[in-house]
Amino acid sequence: MSAEEKNTQKPLLSEDAQNVLGAMLDLLKRDAKAFEVPDFLADNDNFQEILTTLIATQEFCDALRKGEIDHTTKVKGYSISQLKAVQMELRNLIWQMKEISKGQSYTETYSHSNLTSSFHSMMGHLTSKIQKLNQSKKNFQEISSRDPLTNAYNRNALADEFLHAIHAATEKGHCCAVLYFDIDFFKRINDTHGHNVGDIVLKEFVKRIEHCKRDTDLCCRLGGEEFIVLMPSVIEEFIPKIDERFRRQLTEKEIDFPGGSLSFTYSAGITSFTPHKGFSEDDLTDIINFADQLLYEAKRSGRARSIIQNYH
Ligand code: GH3
Ligand code: MG
Ligand code: MG
Repeated sequence: MSAEEKNTQKPLLSEDAQNVLGAMLDLLKRDAKAFEVPDFLADNDNFQEILTTLIATQEFCDALRKGEIDHTTKVKGYSISQLKAVQMELRNLIWQMKEISKGQSYTETYSHSNLTSSFHSMMGHLTSKIQKLNQSKKNFQEISSRDPLTNAYNRNALADEFLHAIHAATEKGHCCAVLYFDIDFFKRINDTHGHNVGDIVLKEFVKRIEHCKRDTDLCCRLGGEEFIVLMPSVIEEFIPKIDERFRRQLTEKEIDFPGGSLSFTYSAGITSFTPHKGFSEDDLTDIINFADQLLYEAKRSGRARSIIQNYH
């Protein structure tokens, strides 16, 4: 098209229409609230409606940008309903984050949205990491609470494990017993057969205790050849019978080792108590010390025996 043809061509829109479009284009580029409406549009209802819709849309955008997710508007329109959908999604994500931060477990909901599906994939990743960490923590706690030679609880775990069981017994009003075992002349076993055989005896001793005790009873290696069994539910009158059964099952059979077998005995201090409310670690220490005194008496009076006495 030549320049001459262009100049002579009749415009498609009237001058008024072009002015209206120009004003609207100007409006779209600005903060609608601060827009100075040209005089020729001041009384035009349609233009006022466009202006009102634009102001409401811009206010909604501003609110979302500022993170004010409770913004409301009565104005309707396509853009507003799209913004409401985004607002709803943000609200839902924020609600989920609040629930998670309160300690609630996370539940995935199906969504097409990129934002929500990215959040779910992040949470899925974090959840699996947390599960792995918790499992490692559990494994580590288990390893650090066990004696590596015999797999009995070690001294570190004694207070926690025993107090936990004793507190449960307190609530049920159960009588508990502490059995303090010490293998007799164990040094002689080491000296005669070697340290490795000593280790075999310790392992077998615990294996026999595990076999003899109830699942709810706890066995702890205090160190060397000394072990404590806690019975968190016992009938006091049965303790002498329990003692006899243990002595029979722990020592009746010889212990085999490569190239031979040996027999052994042990001494024990056994005490029973009914834990009171607020039973503490100090109370447990006192009871173990009392059982240790009974054990000392058993040693002094000839070994291979148990001294049983109620703890007051
Ligand atoms: P008593 O009848 O008075 O209890 O005498 P005992 O020989 O059993 O007691 P003593 O305390 O004199 O000796 C305990 C020995 O236990 C000394 C130590 O070398 C040994 N011992 C400690 N820990 C271990 C271990 O893990 N393996 C082995 N094989 N021996 C250990
Ligand atoms: Mg000892
Ligand atoms: Mg000993």
